[in-house]
Amino acid sequence: MRRAKAHARASHVTVGQVRHLEDGRVEIDCSCGMVLTNGPEWSLDEHIRLHRAEARYLALSEVAPAGMPRLIPVTADRFPR
Ligand SMILES: [Zn+2]
Repeated sequence: MRRAKAHARASHVTVGQVRHLEDGRVEIDCSCGMVLTNGPEWSLDEHIRLHRAEARYLALSEVAPAGMPRLIPVTADRFPR
C-alpha cells in the first residue's frame, strides 16, 4: 500500500506554468493528462489538492486487502461504487 501511495504521488504532479484564461479562470496540466482549474466555488489550489487526494485514494483502494472495512463502499474490483 505504501508503494501504491508513492506511485500515485509521483504520477500526479503539476506540469509547466499556470495559464490565465480570458474568462478569468486559471488552469494547469497534471502529469496524468488531466487539466486542473479553478471554478466558481473552488480555487485552483483546492482542485490540485482534491485531485491528488483522489489519486492516492484510488491507488490505495485498489491494493488494500479485500476484507478491510471501508468508509466509502467499493465494488469487487475495489473501486468506489
Ligand atoms: Zn493527475
